[in-house]
Amino acid sequence: MKLYLPESLLLSPLSFWLVDKAIKAARFAGLKPSMAVVPKGCLEGLAWYRLKSEMALHGMSCEEGTDVPVGASPFVAWAGETLLQLQLPPGLCDCHAHTQFAYCGRGIDLVDAATLSLSLGVACQCFTEHAFALYFGSDALKFKWQNDAEEVARVWADPRRSRMAAYREMLQSVKPLLGDRVRFGLEVDLLKDGQFCLHPEDYEGWDYLIGAVHEIADVDIKTISDAELEKKWLRDVEALLAQPIRILAHPFRYFPWYRRAVPRHLYKTVAKMLKQAGVAAEINHHKNAFEVEFFAECLSEGVQLSLGSDAHVTRQAGDLWAHLKTLEALGLDTAEKRAAHVLSFN
Ligand SMILES: [Zn+2]
Ligand SMILES: [Zn+2]
Repeated sequence: MKLYLPESLLLSPLSFWLVDKAIKAARFAGLKPSMAVVPKGCLEGLAWYRLKSEMALHGMSCEEGTDVPVGASPFVAWAGETLLQLQLPPGLCDCHAHTQFAYCGRGIDLVDAATLSLSLGVACQCFTEHAFALYFGSDALKFKWQNDAEEVARVWADPRRSRMAAYREMLQSVKPLLGDRVRFGLEVDLLKDGQFCLHPEDYEGWDYLIGAVHEIADVDIKTISDAELEKKWLRDVEALLAQPIRILAHPFRYFPWYRRAVPRHLYKTVAKMLKQAGVAAEINHHKNAFEVEFFAECLSEGVQLSLGSDAHVTRQAGDLWAHLKTLEALGLDTAEKRAAHVLSFN
């Protein structure tokens, strides 16, 4: 099958990200194009090389053709005869994305990501950098700081708290450029003993905070039983929910990431905890499976859902197609129904 990329898309300043979105849109439509076709003579030199290079990343080839339809906007492409509409339905907020400050980032730029996402029709793009990435060094992804009170005290004694001040300064400098549809926060973990890994002066100044369990400080994953692990995980979720967070990020992700069975028997318990804390449950498809049953429990408890692309690369910003599929599976298939249950900042 061929992916037809019209001139209107290829000549857009966002073109290389839109090519990626077109491939994703085709896949969500259940189509698997293996070759891109561009209008003859549309791209030359470096631009033609770059497109072929982008296609190679997706395992696709690229050729010129005379049968590419004319696009009415930069946001349309075709997979075979199927029209791919790249813009999202109105009213969706992407409440979780990273920035160039993330160690786990793979080439994301805040301004580029915001520009892309907003142009796709996302109502609000929010950036929520890992607080630990702002406080600790480039080996922070090993999570040793969770058990290293001395290192935490050392960083927190510095008024700039390592890169926290620089992150705030960057946000201040881009806010006037990006406007109200872009929001800023932090994704915050726990230290050992359930302490929130956030300096007292860093609670303020954000649109909101999200909480996440990426690691559990006192767990040796090689030896712990499932039952014991579930207990400690639930304890940490409870500790996060006692903090002023607006969203619980990727709620059950810990288990599949450690190749443990997801404790589905805890779906109701966690949904009730979220309801009591007034915290939204995040639908996050960044390397995560669909957890429709959990979100169904959340809805039946009256818990709000939130959508997060968890973008670590610019091109992932506003990737909410999988989220829409989950919402559809939950019966939230219209803007009106979504507005009643999905967190929005607009
Ligand atoms: Zn996370
Ligand atoms: Zn994240």
